[in-house]
Amino acid sequence: MARVALLLGGNRGDVKRTLQQAQQLINERVGAVMRCSNRYESLPWGFEDEQTFFNQALEVSTDLSPIEVLDTIQQIELDLGRDRAAEAQEKAATGACYVGRPIDIDILFYGAEVIHSERLVVPHPHLPEREFALVPLHEIMRQMVHPETGQTVAEMLSALRTREANKQA
Ligand code: ATP
Ligand code: CA
Ligand code: CA
Repeated sequence: MARVALLLGGNRGDVKRTLQQAQQLINERVGAVMRCSNRYESLPWGFEDEQTFFNQALEVSTDLSPIEVLDTIQQIELDLGRDRAAEAQEKAATGACYVGRPIDIDILFYGAEVIHSERLVVPHPHLPEREFALVPLHEIMRQMVHPETGQTVAEMLSALRTREANKQA
């Protein structure tokens, strides 16, 4: 049994409803949802979009392997209307790295495991630089330690905020 931290996000359609459905499907297919954060609203990161994002972090207790968790959350994204072909077209047309989507589910942590495979990097490589991921995660797992840096979630969040404040000063 492993403790997994997932980040749900979305900015198209009825996001509140989609996040609720995602949580229910995760509970059925990945494992019991032990804790969930509030939904946080944030501006799109790395691209322009008129619709803001909502993010929510979940702690899930799972019997699945990391790659099985990835396969399962990708199927849930498809079942909830994520259309990767349309996203690829929009990326090609706009030159953007990120485009809007109804649902995105990322693995932030899988216990204390470190994974660098072609399909999966865990802990999520952008976690230390994304306030929209650290804030909801902090609500449910502030003492969780990053297995590569040794920093807790709380330390990562305050380090990021210090860097941002220094940039603006
Ligand atoms: P980002 O990873 O920067 O948040 P994204 O979520 O928009 O970008 P996607 O198009 O959803 O990217 O996923 C691209 C690929 O990322 C997936 O097909 C998956 O194989 C890979 N991936 C690698 N590490 C992870 C992870 N920790 N969680 C989810 N997907 C991952
Ligand atoms: Ca993502
Ligand atoms: Ca993703």
